[in-house]
Amino acid sequence: MLKSEVLAVEGWKKVIHFEDDTAGLKAIIAVHDATLGPGCGGCRIFPYARFEDGLEDVKKLSRGMTFKNALGGIPFGGGKAVIFADPKKDKTPALLEAFGRAVDSLDGLYYTAEDSGVTEQDLEIVRSVTKYAAGMQNKGIGGNPSPFTARGVWRGMQAAARKKLGVDSLKGLKVSILGVGAVGMELARLIHEEGGKLVVADVNQAAVKEAVERFGAETTAPEDAIAADVDIFSPCALGGSINELSIKRLKAKIVAGAANNQLKTPDMDQTLADMGVLYCPDYVINAAGVISVGMEITGAWTEEELTRRIDKIGETLSGIFERAENENAPTGAVADRMALEVISNGAKSGLQANSAA
Ligand code: NAD
Repeated sequence: MLKSEVLAVEGWKKVIHFEDDTAGLKAIIAVHDATLGPGCGGCRIFPYARFEDGLEDVKKLSRGMTFKNALGGIPFGGGKAVIFADPKKDKTPALLEAFGRAVDSLDGLYYTAEDSGVTEQDLEIVRSVTKYAAGMQNKGIGGNPSPFTARGVWRGMQAAARKKLGVDSLKGLKVSILGVGAVGMELARLIHEEGGKLVVADVNQAAVKEAVERFGAETTAPEDAIAADVDIFSPCALGGSINELSIKRLKAKIVAGAANNQLKTPDMDQTLADMGVLYCPDYVINAAGVISVGMEITGAWTEEELTRRIDKIGETLSGIFERAENENAPTGAVADRMALEVISNGAKSGLQANSAA
């Protein structure tokens, strides 16, 4: 039987702990802010060692979604879910159905989608018990967000190259991609087809080999990707690749990648600015996946409209770069301020402001 308990978490709209012993479900759903609409964000399945670890993760992730959705121009607040389980061993239809019932019990306060450990097929099972799930291909609409995310990062990279290097395309530029997985590989393809040069690094040697064969990429060790002699560093593996030690080795003039929480601490955007590096705030440049999910939920999804909205990520970033320059402030802090402005303008005006341009 599904049991739930609301946790008192200051600053969050609602945080609920769910358990279903029969199905083996232990999960937390967190809705950080619902000013612009219901909380929307993926579900992560991870074998957290302690309850507090999962709680901290879901808090951090749901808060991040509030900012991402606001600047992504979709009428949703920030939400996220974590399931305490090993996705390789513990994922069963019963567990996913129980999670679906948990989502459903919130009556639309939270919409779920993919995050690490969750596939499109898993979401199909979740959706068999709740309508509050998105991110799967349905009659040619929506589906796997990774190619969309890659396109958004590519557009963001172009905007950054325009600002920092004064060029209109990536042709002839060199990009170091750390992590050639679902997003990184597609991003490599887009850069290669535009005439850019690539250096790739991944712990998965098969992925590295594929990038070498398909795109003539050079290779480097994962720990050296940040130090590659390139124009753009693109972190597309895990978070935290820019930390106190690695930041000193960065040679690129632009950081533009798909990974969440690229900076070990948020104030490193100031260090990057001081180094003369243009940082594309991660949650702005990697928002295309959730933009697609949001459009899927609102029924606005068409391929043309999605492409238009993804391409607008470049414009949003250009606006952030301008404001950062005018206010002599780092780009991450400026993005946060802009997201808070969208939220304080309220649901309708926030959406209109973002979709009108
Ligand atoms: P993925 O798992 O398909 O790819 C990640 C790649 O990074 C894999 O090839 C993996 O082998 C490699 N990797 C992992 N640890 C590494 C390490 N220490 N050093 C080098 N390589 C390492 O994931 P993805 O969907 O491509 O997502 C990449 C990043 O972008 C993640 O941080 C994800 O949270 C973020 N992101 C993805 C999406 C999306 O639509 N998929 C959207 C927003 C953000």
